[in-house]
Amino acid sequence: MNTPKLAIVVPCYNEELCIKNTAEKLIEVLDYLIKNNKIRRESFIYFVDDGSADSTWNIIKSLHMQSRFIKGQRFLRNFGNQRAILAGLEAAHRLDCDCAVSIDADLQQDEWTIEKFLDKYRKGYDVVCGIRNNRKTDTVFKKITALCFYRIMNFLGVNIPVNHSDFRLVNRRALNILNLYQERYLFLRGFFYDVGLKTAYVNFDVKPRFAGHSKFNVFSLSGLALNGITSYSVVPLRLVSILGFTMTLVATILGSIAVCNKIFFAHFQHDWVIDLITSCFFGGIELFCLGSIGEYIGQIFLEVKGRPRYITDVELK
Ligand code: UDP
Ligand code: MG
Repeated sequence: MNTPKLAIVVPCYNEELCIKNTAEKLIEVLDYLIKNNKIRRESFIYFVDDGSADSTWNIIKSLHMQSRFIKGQRFLRNFGNQRAILAGLEAAHRLDCDCAVSIDADLQQDEWTIEKFLDKYRKGYDVVCGIRNNRKTDTVFKKITALCFYRIMNFLGVNIPVNHSDFRLVNRRALNILNLYQERYLFLRGFFYDVGLKTAYVNFDVKPRFAGHSKFNVFSLSGLALNGITSYSVVPLRLVSILGFTMTLVATILGSIAVCNKIFFAHFQHDWVIDLITSCFFGGIELFCLGSIGEYIGQIFLEVKGRPRYITDVELK
């Protein structure tokens, strides 16, 4: 196998406090890998500024002037971390890379794991997923929501690897396939699992964020989770039908019992509190079901419009 040209893709959103340190650390890794003949000299780091409002882009520009390893692009506005990674992977494909690694700008993932990724790549794996050894650095809220998310995904038939964020290596073949997918709302973890490529897993230790704070909040995290579910599973839609059927069955049985009571025992208890609770309960279920269907309709609506996945403002090549 020829020595590969590697692109390290780094999505950044308001990361002015991290970006310089991240670039230095990643250049160190690139230097080491080049010296050890694990990657070609033309390998590079590709920053995607996801519409930051701080000085992230100015720092990327000055890093680009100082080092031939630094390339990048800036989005016109914030499009979200999945699209920032996607843009980086598309750039790696365009720039004829043999493989690309995506890693967060806060370097919570151990950058030296990239060497292990490359060893797996050499063994012929198309995708190498980084798996966190633990979630020590996460808040209790994040731990619980992440656990629920992976459980729900697995229950819905999408077996994405547990504790894998977007720290992974993908080879040219995976990049070619990614290029064929024109979905607006691509959930990358689901995508790389779904395609069925030869995948390896490498464990790594999570570090605390270098500086700044997490760019995800409750809303963006639930958006990401919902997108993951609605892009890769129609099981919730089926559950809605099953639930509807079960409720009708239960209602018919209870109704029959009530009628029999009335006819044979002239006994019919009517309690308005129970009425209220029941109607709220079933009303809630109905709204939940409508909402679930609505999520899919929303997804169709957004896909049908066919808007660009992101808009590049400037690119540094
Ligand atoms: N990020 C991004 N766009 C966003 C939100 C986050 O590009 O809208 C980037 C962010 O700069 C970081 C990565 O995605 O490089 C992961 O974000 P973060 O570290 O804040 O997430 P956490 O580690 O808390 O899950
Ligand atoms: Mg982070």
